Amino acid sequence: MINRERLTNTFCELVSIDSPSGEEEEVSKYIEAKLTKLGFILLKDDYGNLIAKTKSNNNNLILSAHMDTVEPGRGIIPVVEKDIIKSKTDTILGGDCKAGLTGILEALDSLNEEHYEFKNLVLIFTREEELALQGARNLDFSKFEGSNAIIFDGEGPPSTITSSSPTYISFDIEIIGRAAHAGAEPEKGLSAIILASKLINKLPQGRLDNETTFNIGKIEGGSVRNAVPANVYVQGEFRTSSLETLDNLSETLSITVREIKDEFPDSKINLKTELLFENYKLKDNDPCLKIVTNAIEKLGLKPNLKPSGGGTDGNVFIKKDIKSVVVGMGVTGMHTINETVSIPDLVDSSSLCQELILSNC
Ligand SMILES: [Zn+2]
Repeated sequence: MINRERLTNTFCELVSIDSPSGEEEEVSKYIEAKLTKLGFILLKDDYGNLIAKTKSNNNNLILSAHMDTVEPGRGIIPVVEKDIIKSKTDTILGGDCKAGLTGILEALDSLNEEHYEFKNLVLIFTREEELALQGARNLDFSKFEGSNAIIFDGEGPPSTITSSSPTYISFDIEIIGRAAHAGAEPEKGLSAIILASKLINKLPQGRLDNETTFNIGKIEGGSVRNAVPANVYVQGEFRTSSLETLDNLSETLSITVREIKDEFPDSKINLKTELLFENYKLKDNDPCLKIVTNAIEKLGLKPNLKPSGGGTDGNVFIKKDIKSVVVGMGVTGMHTINETVSIPDLVDSSSLCQELILSNC
């Protein structure tokens, strides 16, 4: 039986351990200690992702969640108010993805209590998911086998299934103008800030259509008040599920940079784009989707498929030919200081995990 009190305690313990991206060591140790007691074989790949396996390895089911959180995520103090857990201070709660970790760990504790013998199970706990899936992208897939993965990293109740996720492109633009004294000889300068503003003005912004977004997220530049600024750095991203839109936006970006260069021949503008993860759309007959919807229905819940504008480790797993489904873990307000976890949803999430383990044998 899923034990609500034990589950709440595990969750509060996990969020009390700081694990911003890149600093997952302590959370990993916490999970390792629990899994060792439950008899799992533990491995770490070169990147520090944690992999746990059962002794028997046949037609494995993969369960996964990530160990890192976003900022502000240090010194989190969880507060339980009836059915809701929130952060006491101005930090995130860390439900993303500690709720996912909790759901899996409680399902294992519950089954262990009933003397269930774990078999044909692989658990993957990744690092740096919040850094554009860096951990999963560096995961050593040769260390485990399994054709279906359930990833506990979605928003909302566990009946919420992520039906699609976009391709994600990051871009960095370095704009180099020419410095000059702002009062004595401004005409000798070429303001990189002016160039940046002209460039940004020509670029699209926000939601472009129902499957595409574009964002300039960070600008850094200039050095002092009284100098024409010589350097500006711009960071942005775009996401889309359409290959055609992806090509068009990449081209728009290059053309815009070229136009600004042509207008200001003395400037230097360096554009770097990087594809960080690729899109997917679950098919109705996806075998892994079938496994998940069956388990959700068995719990008396109604599967609710929803597209997502974000990426998860599922994007990487799917490209590695592992059928993957991302489910909700009882969290709302992810990546904000208003993040909360619903304990009944967390209980359901753990029950779903338990059902998935049982249905795989
Ligand atoms: Zn997450």
